[in-house]
Amino acid sequence: MTDTSSRPVRTRFAPSPTGYLHLGGARTALFSWAFARHFGGTFVLRIEDTDLERSTPEAVQAILDGMQWLDLKADEGPFYQMQRMDRYRAVIADMLAQGTAYHCYSTPEEVEAMRARARAVGAKPRYDGTWRPEPGKTLPPIPAGVRPVVRFRSPQDGVTAWDDLVKGPISFDNGELDDLVIARPDGTPTYNFCVVVDDWDMRITHVIRGDDHVNNTPRQINILRALGGELPRYGHVPMILGPDGEKLSKRHGAVSVMEYDRMGYLPEAMVNYLARLGWSHGNDELFTREQFVAWFDPRNLSRSAAQWDPKKLNWVNAHA
Ligand code: GLU
Repeated sequence: MTDTSSRPVRTRFAPSPTGYLHLGGARTALFSWAFARHFGGTFVLRIEDTDLERSTPEAVQAILDGMQWLDLKADEGPFYQMQRMDRYRAVIADMLAQGTAYHCYSTPEEVEAMRARARAVGAKPRYDGTWRPEPGKTLPPIPAGVRPVVRFRSPQDGVTAWDDLVKGPISFDNGELDDLVIARPDGTPTYNFCVVVDDWDMRITHVIRGDDHVNNTPRQINILRALGGELPRYGHVPMILGPDGEKLSKRHGAVSVMEYDRMGYLPEAMVNYLARLGWSHGNDELFTREQFVAWFDPRNLSRSAAQWDPKKLNWVNAHA
């Protein structure tokens, strides 16, 4: 396939280390890796460890082990978001200075009341802009003892649209998007904000990730635009379902890639099967990693969820 961007291709896999490397994550990593390899680009590994309650060093290790087993080598990283806090804070300070973000002193209870009022009139529940500076508007007096959050000044009119590498054109009404909180009262940056700064700093050109992130994308695009960064292309990969059509989970059997190692499967069989989950190349069922890289085109990914069928993995394994 041809690439529309003139920048050297850089992709990333950005797992949250809250558990083992599961099949869905492994498949996303594989596609992101293959895309970079296809274009002779760079594949970056970033560990999104800002959720302190759920992130563990064991999970980081499990993800690294899983990637090593599948032989998905990162060209750069792992980078850890927790080690980049100063950078995020500096960008937030710049945004406050430039007016693309502002302090909001509304308490969580007040914001909940705003949302309830919107719901009551059938509108989308959202922050009502009380602290959003506007020309000629007088802001309320700053309440004593309230530590503010920082909100991004999200565009209110028009649409945010992108041509998704997997799903085709997607567009969101800006009127639906809240002024997103980018820093909490204690100053720590929020998840969507860290992702944007990282993708910007790491010069990511193609974001390939699970489609559970589609709703984050317009917010991330708007923040990146406000920062003056060049937008990456986005490709959202549909999730994997179990044989019964439900979201893949433990009750469908092994969902950690390393469990397949323990059961004696070959990593190449797993790569082959993950590659074929939701992606096809004619009638070819068995192909080498090199062939996969040469053929890989995210536009050939299925737009609907892929179905995991362990019986087919057995078949691939038997022939590997
Ligand atoms: N950390 C996110 C996750 O594990 C991925 C975020 C992204 O790829 O932008 O679901």
